[in-house]
Amino acid sequence: MLRLERVSKFYSAGGMVSAGFSKVDLEFQLGEFVAITGESGSGKSTLLNVISGLDSFEEGEMYIQGQPTSGYSKEDLENYRKQYIGSIFQTFNLINSYTVYQNVELVLLLSGYDKKEIPDRVHQIIDKVGLSGFEKKKASKLSGGQKQRVAIARALAKETPVIVADEPTGNLDSQSAAEIIQLLHELSKDKLIIIVTHNYEQVEPYVTRKITMHDGRVAEDKQLKAEDLLPAVELKAAKADELTFGSQLRLGLRNTFNIPAKFGLLLLVFLFLCFGAVFEYVSWQNMGDSMDDGWSEYFRYTGKDRILVTKEDKSEFRQKDYDKLAGISNVESVVENDITLDLMIGLAGADGDGNWWGSVFLSETARYADQVTEGRLPKNAKEAVLLVGQDSYAGDHLEEITKGKLELTDDYSGRSLLTHPVKVVGYGFLTEKQLENLRGNGSYSDGYLCMNDKAMDQIRMGNLVQYCTQEIHFADTIMEAGGRWGSYPIYSSEYVPEGQIYIPEDIAMASPYEAAGQDLRLVNKSLYFEDTYTYTVGAAYNKNNCYYYLGIENLDNVDSTAIYVSPKDYRKLFDKENFQSSVLVADEMLVYETEKAIKEAGYKTLVVNDAKISYNDDFEPVYDILILMLLIGGLLVLFFITYFIVKLILKSRNVYFSTIRMLGATKANCSSLLKIELFVVFNLAFFVSLATVLFLKQDTLGIDMLPLMMSYLETGDLMALYVILCAMTILLAARYARQLFSKTAMNAYKEEV
Ligand code: ADP
Ligand code: MG
Repeated sequence: MLRLERVSKFYSAGGMVSAGFSKVDLEFQLGEFVAITGESGSGKSTLLNVISGLDSFEEGEMYIQGQPTSGYSKEDLENYRKQYIGSIFQTFNLINSYTVYQNVELVLLLSGYDKKEIPDRVHQIIDKVGLSGFEKKKASKLSGGQKQRVAIARALAKETPVIVADEPTGNLDSQSAAEIIQLLHELSKDKLIIIVTHNYEQVEPYVTRKITMHDGRVAEDKQLKAEDLLPAVELKAAKADELTFGSQLRLGLRNTFNIPAKFGLLLLVFLFLCFGAVFEYVSWQNMGDSMDDGWSEYFRYTGKDRILVTKEDKSEFRQKDYDKLAGISNVESVVENDITLDLMIGLAGADGDGNWWGSVFLSETARYADQVTEGRLPKNAKEAVLLVGQDSYAGDHLEEITKGKLELTDDYSGRSLLTHPVKVVGYGFLTEKQLENLRGNGSYSDGYLCMNDKAMDQIRMGNLVQYCTQEIHFADTIMEAGGRWGSYPIYSSEYVPEGQIYIPEDIAMASPYEAAGQDLRLVNKSLYFEDTYTYTVGAAYNKNNCYYYLGIENLDNVDSTAIYVSPKDYRKLFDKENFQSSVLVADEMLVYETEKAIKEAGYKTLVVNDAKISYNDDFEPVYDILILMLLIGGLLVLFFITYFIVKLILKSRNVYFSTIRMLGATKANCSSLLKIELFVVFNLAFFVSLATVLFLKQDTLGIDMLPLMMSYLETGDLMALYVILCAMTILLAARYARQLFSKTAMNAYKEEV
């Protein structure tokens, strides 16, 4: 039934070709009990491996049932092995972490036996090899003789016509060895048995034929006891179906948990992977979000709850406007004087001692009057009370602050806000909640400076000056003036009579005639108004006459391009009513709905947070790609770290995989077993991470940052992460399987053992 015709097997290593055996002619029949002997290195094992389809051959032809096998593909060879060959090895090749029962069951599963059929078969054969009662014992716990009995049971379980055994007794004491050989003989009378041995005496009582190898060739082929040969037994190939999907799942699950240490390590690695990926993902989202943060030139308070409101016709706000706005749903408060939101006041010592006491927002006294615990409330525009955090810098220096006077400056531009210094006459402390609100919008404010209405009006007027520009029309010339950083600033001076304007010689020179007495038209413009005033030039001042006209002793100490009007005219220019208010909403999520409602009520709106200028406007798409690449890069690093560790852990599994390959598992089988195993571990790890994320979201630990970070992980994100990580796991398994199968089963096995 099995015939070799001038078969040769060559090994090539490092360019050198050596023969495992060469030009072997042999024919085997069912019922034969063949012993192959010969000195070490004579080619016995190689011959046996070729016969059992574990190794390929390079020359000649091997026939099975008259069919040539040289053209067999890997799959054909796998199938051939499943159908015809049961193997027994010197080193047993049991799965040590499996029980006796599971070891025998394994080959039946691999050959696609029916689930119902398996238990009976397994128990029967275990009984036959004399291991009843040991079914549940782990293979690693058995003696050598017992192990080889399991191996025999395994080889016989699926009823292949050929049993090959390579030095099956090599690792056994002589007593067990004799028993094993006898067992083999008894259990396989109708099969072809080929035993490689260098202890011929052991097998002598049973053999029907003795083949002696020498130097890769058959030196002697002797028929003994020909009378024992059965007359032409009908050959029956064993079942060779595919491992069913159910069995794959069962084996995969079994492999996942049967070595606790390995399972624990893998779980740790996958926890690392999951948490790492969650961290990567969250910081990626966080990064994207903070990129959205920008700054605004005009607005100090850019909280997401603020809507700027002006009137459609740019007119001034009236009480009924405030009432109307307050009545709109989701409006928490109307900040009438919204300069209090946008002006950050720097507190400096007024006597020029260089003391800096911090930055605060401006606020109405009434709002915090209850909280003033020391001193009293302000009585005039030169007094203020201070509300600060207990542990702020200003809070630590309240005694010194109240002792002297303060100069108020615009923290942003450095401009003086009031013409006179301010005395802090009382103070108090903010509550934790108030501090949280203060800090929550990203400001660095220490608290609030509360002043009376008159002072606030002055400050607002000063502020408006900053946002107004002027055109000076004089003697056919138009000059741009004012604005934040502009030239020709307008000041008020007691020296200037109402209706007149004093100009520097710079401007006066625009006319070839005497400037004084001529008309000068001033157009004062802001976002909200454009007013034109006509003055008579009262004087053109220079450094010689400035004391006479303006009481200025030295022109070098002031802006020598300023224009001066009377205090009353100055107020006409800038003391406007309010053109702009802000609305703070209760629920930030509904800010656009609220904005719509305000628009419908007849106002113009701006959600202030949207008006921020991004730091990286021009680079936004580049940044997006850059941080996405950071995420991908991070995940790749995670993947390879994980792969590396998994590879180390799975190294111990290589024996397992090469063993089941020799038992008939295909490459696809091994690959899917590995995938199932890693998939199960991954899911457990992901589940643990998920539970942790949900736990952290609840803020049970009291670490502020964690729930915030975790709030980036919505269901969709978690699903995305799951899919990404799942793909990574499958990829990992596939990659590992691929490198595992870059070698033939036999070579892989030889390397591992
Ligand atoms: P035996 O089993 O009779 O001791 P083997 O069949 O193992 O002998 O080896 C036969 C010859 O083939 C020896 O010369 C051995 O060195 C060589 N050989 C066996 N396996 C390999 C291999 N994987 N690569 C290269 N040479 C090998
Ligand atoms: Mg050998």
